[in-house]
Amino acid sequence: MSGERRILFLPGDGIGPEIMAQVRRLIDWFDERGYGFVVEEGEVGGTAYERHGTPLPDAVLAKAQEIGTVMFGAVGGPQWDDLPFHLKPEQGLLRLRKELGLFANLRPAMVFDALVDASSLKPDLVRGLDLMIVRELTGGVYFGEPRGIEELPDGEKRAVDTQVYTTPEIRRIARVAFELARGRRNSVTSVEKANVMYSGVLWRRTVQELHDREYPDVELRHMYADNCAMQLVRQPKQFDVIVTDNLFGDLLSDEAAMLTGSLGMLPSASLGEVRADGRRNALYEPVHGSAPDIAGQDRANPLACILSFAMLLRHSFGLSAEADLVEKAVAAVLEAGYRTADIHTPGTTLVGTTEMGSRVLEAMGRLALA
Ligand code: NAD
Repeated sequence: MSGERRILFLPGDGIGPEIMAQVRRLIDWFDERGYGFVVEEGEVGGTAYERHGTPLPDAVLAKAQEIGTVMFGAVGGPQWDDLPFHLKPEQGLLRLRKELGLFANLRPAMVFDALVDASSLKPDLVRGLDLMIVRELTGGVYFGEPRGIEELPDGEKRAVDTQVYTTPEIRRIARVAFELARGRRNSVTSVEKANVMYSGVLWRRTVQELHDREYPDVELRHMYADNCAMQLVRQPKQFDVIVTDNLFGDLLSDEAAMLTGSLGMLPSASLGEVRADGRRNALYEPVHGSAPDIAGQDRANPLACILSFAMLLRHSFGLSAEADLVEKAVAAVLEAGYRTADIHTPGTTLVGTTEMGSRVLEAMGRLALA
């Protein structure tokens, strides 16, 4: 069938292969129904270092560039902690993001009804929460020049980081946010510090101009980052899509993630420019790491990875109904009381990684027939 639905699978280290195996089962389920996914697999991280002496072999990078759609597990582990910086497993992921030009990081914060008590906020504040943080990933103060630490004539030191954004950089990330909002609740909150930073002034002006010219149908409001941090814990359901820069996005996406209360449940996507074939380069991965402490024990929660695959269906292949099906199946399994150890509470049923995958598949079958 169609070779157009190609996916590069990079399971990585630790629990990566275990959780990705569950995604593979979901892909098989779709294939049995004629979706024609074509999965190729590669090595990355510590596993790739052991076999090839590098955390990202050239052939894997070339495959990622060719296919453009990457499903990523996790990388890292204590056995590689002492490697030189450029050989560390995490460098494989960082290089992949850079080479694919992934400038937009999408981090949804979604609270499933069944897990509403896992949040540190009151249930009423987070029940039904569904917001998306769009973080600029390749610019701003983490990359701006000049940067560094210099010695002053009097022997003291001076450190400099530069927050820098150009109008094209702001426009392309804002465009991602407006497009996403159109498929959701049609509302964008643009976040900066225009009250004290020139980059914030330019950010606000550029987002507003783009809005007025191309997206007047989308509701847009501007908010200072400090206020946004406060509003996220005060009244998080006021947000649909939040778009912000690299630094503020780093902080706010972690804050929003914790509203949901569980690392094993958090998916993410990173998107690049639109390619000649009309799709964006994209990498989908759970927010959590390789969890070496529980690797190989069938204890990992595969749901963050499965929800990342739902994002892949939606954002790379336009399969929104199928993405909804996966998300609804996850909700149904949680509703039925099945929990991996990380989200297990008294009165719920403890299951392992593979059984959680089986439950999701079962729920998909049931919901698809309904
Ligand atoms: P981690 O996210 O791997 O684990 C933190 C804690 O959460 C651990 O107790 C772990 O058991 C638990 N946990 C994480 N994911 C889970 C899941 N799906 N199900 C159940 N429990 C889960 O973070 P860490 O311990 O700080 O880092 C471990 C390794 O992962 C390090 O080498 C780190 O560099 C790497 N890391 C990789 C990524 C990535 O690949 N994107 C991200 C973060 C950390």
